[in-house]
Amino acid sequence: MPPLTTPDATALLGVYARVGPLFVAGEGSELIAEDGTRYLDFVAGIAVNALGYNHPVFRDAVLRALESGLVHVSNLYRTEPGERLAAELTSHAFPSGGQAFFCNSGAEANEGAFKFARKWSQKTEIVAFSGSFHGRLFASLAATDRPDYRRPFEPLLAGVQIVPLGDEDAASRAITERTAAVIIEPVQGEGGVRPVPAEFLALLRELCDKNGSALIFDEVQCGLGRTGTLFAAEQMGVVPDMYTLAKPLGGGLPMGAVLVNDAIAAALAPGDHATTFGGGPFVAAVALDVLRTIAEPDFLAEVRSKGEWFSQRLNRLVAGSARVREARGRGLMWGLELNDVAAPVVAAARERHLLVLTAGPTVIRIVPPLTISRDELERGATILAEVLA
Ligand SMILES: *Cc1c(COP(=O)(O)O)cnc(C)c1O
Repeated sequence: MPPLTTPDATALLGVYARVGPLFVAGEGSELIAEDGTRYLDFVAGIAVNALGYNHPVFRDAVLRALESGLVHVSNLYRTEPGERLAAELTSHAFPSGGQAFFCNSGAEANEGAFKFARKWSQKTEIVAFSGSFHGRLFASLAATDRPDYRRPFEPLLAGVQIVPLGDEDAASRAITERTAAVIIEPVQGEGGVRPVPAEFLALLRELCDKNGSALIFDEVQCGLGRTGTLFAAEQMGVVPDMYTLAKPLGGGLPMGAVLVNDAIAAALAPGDHATTFGGGPFVAAVALDVLRTIAEPDFLAEVRSKGEWFSQRLNRLVAGSARVREARGRGLMWGLELNDVAAPVVAAARERHLLVLTAGPTVIRIVPPLTISRDELERGATILAEVLA
């Protein structure tokens, strides 16, 4: 079928400030524009395309899943891929058992986790932290510390407190016997790429245990290999009651998940929650192959090794530029804190065919495909160093 219309950005609701060329293809760690120009991609669809573009594992999984003829069946019935995916994810997540609920996005995963926490705890309040990002729906937005995202939509969900990140006294005061859920990103993403100290997560674990509150680790961005371990929190040695996942889970297909431990699973019954598309056989089959690829110990070791090398490269960049204050991150999730605004740096990098993101006003965020090569990391770091010189 020939295209009936020419592409027109004004046909889309103006909630995004889209920039740059029209992308028509992708390969490895590069996006290819209409005129054939290749862009080195340190964005990866915002930490979604963990295997980059056109990866054989993803392609084969998609083709095989199509051949089964099952794309959507409904959660009224059993299908195989979702059951396998749930078993594999939960066995990685919890020392003993657990169950998975599949949905379609990160915000939806967090909304579900809040409902599960309320049902299990029989309490209502939620505690989140400064710099947090948990999504754009009503409860997830209430737990998101971005005044510009919140203000036009107030009043948001009541009973959600935002506590200064890392402030132990404030956390001890805020988490009480009325707290249903405490939600935190073990490495904050949108809020500026901030790894949370292990001691702080351990304190939250203790406070949640004491008060009968559910500890939720939002690993939508930092999870699934991004920091060099399957879950970022593994490196901090703290196990939550629930993990929320999304971005890379479907290898680029929309998919989210809430992984819950056995105690929370036991509090949920048929009818408590649902979503039409969640965990359908097509996305789940693809996610299963993506998960198996990422969870491979050699794959994760390679992410850690590239990450260590890249951290040294970025620290050299920091030392060589008066405009950069520090590099923060883990694995292949990095932020460069600048002394001034980050948006012009993103634009200048794009002019040199490197895609990077911001994370708040003064941070450059780097979340490339986990499959990126050292040469490509070096090429991107060189462009950034030039732009920041
Ligand atoms: C992106 C993100 C979300 C929201 O995910 P959506 O799929 O955009 O709804 C939630 N939490 C974190 C940590 C994220 O990075």
